[in-house]
Amino acid sequence: MKYLDEFGDPDRARRLVAEIHAATTRPWSVMEVCGGQTHAILRHGIDQLLPAEIELVHGPGCPVCVTPLEMIDRALLIAARPEVTFCSFGDMLRVPGSAGDLFTVKAAGGDVRVVYSPLDAVAIAEAEPDREVVFFGVGFETTAPANAMAVVQAHDRGLANFSVLASHVLVPPAIEALMASGTSRVDGFLAAGHVCTVMGTHQYAPLAARYRVPIVVTGFEPLDVLDGIRRCVVQLEAGRAEVENAYPRAVTAEGNQPAQEVLASVFEVCDRPWRGIGTIPASGWRLRAEYADHDAERRFDVGAFVVEEPAACRAGEVLQGLIKPDECEAFGATCTPRTPLGATMVSSEGACAAYFRYRRSGSPAALRGG
Ligand code: SF4
Repeated sequence: MKYLDEFGDPDRARRLVAEIHAATTRPWSVMEVCGGQTHAILRHGIDQLLPAEIELVHGPGCPVCVTPLEMIDRALLIAARPEVTFCSFGDMLRVPGSAGDLFTVKAAGGDVRVVYSPLDAVAIAEAEPDREVVFFGVGFETTAPANAMAVVQAHDRGLANFSVLASHVLVPPAIEALMASGTSRVDGFLAAGHVCTVMGTHQYAPLAARYRVPIVVTGFEPLDVLDGIRRCVVQLEAGRAEVENAYPRAVTAEGNQPAQEVLASVFEVCDRPWRGIGTIPASGWRLRAEYADHDAERRFDVGAFVVEEPAACRAGEVLQGLIKPDECEAFGATCTPRTPLGATMVSSEGACAAYFRYRRSGSPAALRGG
């Protein structure tokens, strides 16, 4: 397949692996921020090809995983209302709240529908004016532009029955929080290429300088990931800490400016709780007051509630790279994709789901027989 198979070419992969081995003289921990990269690493066995000194640490970049439990519970309460048609991407339907998930609501008679775009939800609102149509807008900077555009379109068409339950999170404040935590063991980052496609790379320079960490903007195919690791290791070995773009076919320094303009017109920055991690200042987007009529949180007052994560679930530590999924006692025992205790076992980008799917247990050294 043109433009895809090229990025899985085995000869070029071998060359990149050899270059990583040749460049490595000391132990380094490299965090891939995005869950899509985590799955690529495990699916292609990239971690098993690296020198023993290189540890890949899995990061918090799984939007489904970091959506706070109270937001899931809020979604369940809104979706259960008889006047509501609740629209969501499919990956949110099995994310457990305090008591059940969106499938549970659907099974009990709730009008929960899977859509493939927020604009599908706008179309439903237009076609069914007697229904209150709510779209669950979850995600990083990647999914936010389409959600912002849906709000603008609904507003311009006068669709008073359309609203978004927005739970958007931002990558740079999460990197900042990890590095400022005092517990991070990350020496360098592979930043998420698709986020930078929208936002550009300029936001990362202050972080690289402040925490003396290389940040390599990296794609998602096997050669992308290997090249990102190679560049990160070369910088670390040379004592450099720079932002480097290893995904130039999709990313520019300034990013997608029309998308950024729509985002700025619809959303404003807010503090946001991250599931398992806690509140990170200025790490999310909420709808601006001008679009309050399309803000499901304001339209449907479901009250305040106290939530508690399952005690056995260590997803917060997984998402911060403090443990690997198979270090959680519940992994593969009481927690499986069929019986998930945490969102990291549900999401197609979750690290626990990746370890389960690709049957990983033990360290890369153990898997190599080392
Ligand atoms: S394996 Fe399950 S219980 Fe353990 S951290 Fe992952 S999602 Fe939570």
